[in-house]
Amino acid sequence: MGETIIPLADLRYAAEIPRVPTNATAPVGLLTDLLGRPLRDLRISVTDRCNFRCSYCMPKEVFDRDYRFLPHSSLLSFEELTRVARLFVAHGVVKLRLTGGEPLLRKDLEVLIGQLASLRTPQGQPLDITLTTNGALLERKAAALREAGLRRVTVSLDALDDAIFRRMNDVDFPVAEVLRGIDAARRTGLAPIKINMVVKRGTNDDQIVPLARHVRDQYGPGVVLRFIEYMDVGATNGWRMDEVLPSADVVKRLDAVFPLEPLQASSPGETAQRWRYADGGGEIGVISSVTQAFCRDCNRARLSTEGKLFLCLFASRGHDLRTLLRGTAGDGRPWTDEQIAAALGLIWREREDRYSELRGQRAPGLGQGERRVEMHYIGG
Ligand code: SAM
Ligand code: SF4
Ligand code: SF4
Repeated sequence: MGETIIPLADLRYAAEIPRVPTNATAPVGLLTDLLGRPLRDLRISVTDRCNFRCSYCMPKEVFDRDYRFLPHSSLLSFEELTRVARLFVAHGVVKLRLTGGEPLLRKDLEVLIGQLASLRTPQGQPLDITLTTNGALLERKAAALREAGLRRVTVSLDALDDAIFRRMNDVDFPVAEVLRGIDAARRTGLAPIKINMVVKRGTNDDQIVPLARHVRDQYGPGVVLRFIEYMDVGATNGWRMDEVLPSADVVKRLDAVFPLEPLQASSPGETAQRWRYADGGGEIGVISSVTQAFCRDCNRARLSTEGKLFLCLFASRGHDLRTLLRGTAGDGRPWTDEQIAAALGLIWREREDRYSELRGQRAPGLGQGERRVEMHYIGG
């Protein structure tokens, strides 16, 4: 009695088929959720596959030879992705981030970037389009990505020490190739380049200072290194709080070697707290998702590889947009842009996710008892 029945799009993660309002009103370029947060940032996972097996994201024991990744027919096509992105932009999204899995594994990704680069905000402005990559294929692809319209890039790099790096990616991938990828990105003019390091206490925390020194000495202020607290995403990485090194400790360790001064956030909803080197050697960021939640400003939605929309990194339920993109309305006709945009509006207006703020509390609606979505499936 009183039970809500949620149709499942498939069994990988629960997803509701979005409701389409009968009186669709056109998007006005601004949507706010129940906590007053606007929708500004869409992260698009273009593949659930990856050539690395970072233990904090895709541990080898789970994502092994027998693991069934999504078949190609499940993925949204470039045309579908561009259509969805366009509808989000009409609702106020100004930033698109391509992620995964490893986005550079998606064939012809530069074609998608070209399509996305042609979109404009309701004010006629181009979008801020970026991509997060492990850098393994960056040397080969940087020029084509830049040419297609990509402006900047974020490269994940957890260690400078080759042995530690190989251990963390768990496929014995050499750090030198990622560094060559970063060089290629710099040469092609992708800027600013951000480098993300996930810090795991006892695994790579001794790499904080060497990596900072490398970025300062070799790249200078045009490259921003950011330290991310190891998060309890998904259900497979065996996360433990004692492996989280709080950002405050990262800042303390760096400050002891390279004195730091705090900087203002550059935009509302920015995830990183910014610091600059007092000697003018550039800036760093820390992303304190565990010790200092920033849900209050969270303006991000995430689209999974197969077109499910997630409103929080820690969600266990999505909204199955693919069914709207490929299915038909009651009259047998395909859903129109107006109808899908109206459905998106309804989804965001009802959002109240704030997992990190509530982490540790036994609050209802946090997906406890349900399997949380994996990071490689919705992207970081
Ligand atoms: N494969 C690409 C890469 O690694 O850059 C893009 C996808 S990856 C899921 C996106 C970001 O999420 C990466 O910077 C990665 O380090 C981060 N990430 C993955 N698992 C994480 C975890 N448990 N805690 C914190 N960050 C994590
Ligand atoms: Fe792959 Fe990125 Fe996850 Fe590492 S963090 S396993 S590179 S998707
Ligand atoms: Fe946003 Fe969810 Fe992360 Fe909070 S926990 S910042 S709501 S993605």
